[in-house]
Amino acid sequence: MKPIRLAANRFPRFYRGGSAIDELRGTTPGTGGDFLPEDWVGSATAAFGSAADGLTRLEDGSTLRQAIEADPEGFLGRDHLDAYGASPALLVKLLHAGERLPVHCHPDRDFARRHLGCPWGKTEAWVIAGTEVPEPVVHLGFREAMGAGRLAELVAGQRVEPLLASLNAVPVAVGDTVLVPAGLPHAIGQGVLLVELQEPTDLSVLLEWEGFAIDGRAQGHLGLGFELALGCVDRSAWDPARLARLRGGRGPARPGVERLFPADADPFFRAERLRPEPAATLEPAFSILVVTGGSGRLEARGGSLELARGDTVLVPFAAGPGQVRGRLTAVRCLPPAPAAGPSRRGTP
Ligand SMILES: [Zn+2]
Repeated sequence: MKPIRLAANRFPRFYRGGSAIDELRGTTPGTGGDFLPEDWVGSATAAFGSAADGLTRLEDGSTLRQAIEADPEGFLGRDHLDAYGASPALLVKLLHAGERLPVHCHPDRDFARRHLGCPWGKTEAWVIAGTEVPEPVVHLGFREAMGAGRLAELVAGQRVEPLLASLNAVPVAVGDTVLVPAGLPHAIGQGVLLVELQEPTDLSVLLEWEGFAIDGRAQGHLGLGFELALGCVDRSAWDPARLARLRGGRGPARPGVERLFPADADPFFRAERLRPEPAATLEPAFSILVVTGGSGRLEARGGSLELARGDTVLVPFAAGPGQVRGRLTAVRCLPPAPAAGPSRRGTP
């Protein structure tokens, strides 16, 4: 199988952004105007409540999901298929916060299984790919333990100022990474462009919606009601030392390849930063490349592709081993290792 170059996959969301994605990818702004802040890259995940939004379409018009179902072993490899079924077990996005995102969080697997009939939660992680404000920040975790009653009050009253002030404001710079465990309340600050890795769901609980183009009171609780939905929020205190454990990576994995994210991310996804010097080798794996700078070439046993800034490429397992060459920086996004995640087949 050949590596597959992916076209942009944008659809309207309820917050502003997207110009930095157009700038990165060299695309012209779409008809969604200011409200196309995300590009779902190599996605077999549909947006919450939608049948089609979010699903990547291939050149022949089929969805990636259909293509994987037709050849799951070719796309994913036998070990992945045995562990997770015909799902990539991964959702990758480009996300540009044209305005600060609302404070929100995502359920974990246990909560999603019990209340939403879904085996996946939505732990996510960010690789900062661009910033366009002088002091870019993300908001992450309560500074002090938050009472359940107090949180319910802040959300019901949409008291945005004290809600935001209760979170840590964490400065970020290009190249930084942040692991965001399910449950952790967060908001991406204005002017941040990131490559985002997530479990393959679109499950969000909104703690804030005032001023955004969504009726959060009706749509912010996953259909569960806020009393239940707020049960997925991590209300514990996150001090600087605890936050520091979400940053940073694991150092060089092999020449030209740096392993991103702390080990706590492994059950959910893996990522590498490729800076070939002069070549970075790739083992066979379903993976998604996002080229954040420079240019070069991907050479896999199944085929080769020129790479330039803004390109996104899906490498199927059956493309075989390969390498990336050239003066470029890319994020290589991978599903969790077959032994790391929840077993779809229930093997012991
Ligand atoms: Zn989020």
